[in-house]
Amino acid sequence: MVDGPAPRYVVTGWPVGQTGVVAGVTAVEHGARRGSDSDYGVATGGGPAVARRRYERLASAVGMVSSVAVKQVHGTRIVRVGVSEPGFRVAGEADGLSTAVPGVLLSVTAADCIPVLIADREGRCVAVAHAGWRGAAAGILERTVQAIEAHFGVAPSDLEICLGPGICGECYEVGSEVLQAFNSGQTAPACLDLRAELHARAVHAGLPEASVAILDWCTRCGPVYLHSHRVSGERAGRMAAFIGLRPNPGTFSGKDGHGELR
Ligand SMILES: [Zn+2]
Repeated sequence: MVDGPAPRYVVTGWPVGQTGVVAGVTAVEHGARRGSDSDYGVATGGGPAVARRRYERLASAVGMVSSVAVKQVHGTRIVRVGVSEPGFRVAGEADGLSTAVPGVLLSVTAADCIPVLIADREGRCVAVAHAGWRGAAAGILERTVQAIEAHFGVAPSDLEICLGPGICGECYEVGSEVLQAFNSGQTAPACLDLRAELHARAVHAGLPEASVAILDWCTRCGPVYLHSHRVSGERAGRMAAFIGLRPNPGTFSGKDGHGELR
């Protein structure tokens, strides 16, 4: 066990009816910024030792053995985690993680970008990806879906996807470089709905429309406090979006003192 208060996270209630998967997004105390207890940024959160402690505490709180993050670079590389090693580690430069090993908590961080959680409906594998505009335009979501099929033999039609809290389509004003990356045809500046874009890409990648869930809180204008780079700039912390296969399905209720955000 790791000392300290249990970390709070948002129980998304997703994937519906899937008891073998734990997934969520860490909650943020009101006013918390970079370096606070709710900052899961490996680079922003207070240094490697502090990040390790936070991630090990989170993994322990949700009944997992091991915790893996990545050094995010707005690319499309996805790391497959093949073993469960106790403790926390950063698996190099990448923007996605996948695994079929129970007990491994995969996570990415975000503070306006969209966290993408993916689970096999049969509980055979899970994945998580970080999708800002660069990664989304470059195909991080599609690459993650393809990697799951290649590595685990699970077809896109068997997947459930959740697009987590991020900046909404009304708050995300972007310039011509971004609009061109999405072939939007709009004149800059214009607003981009990154979640709608990712939703369309998920369906195009072969996921059924009904298998795409959206947790549509906005990090900038939402009713709950979330880390936002657009709001706090360099002082912004990072939320962790996490997913894993439970080592002992059925022994963890998901409500053991880690409640809803509101
Ligand atoms: Zn908004």
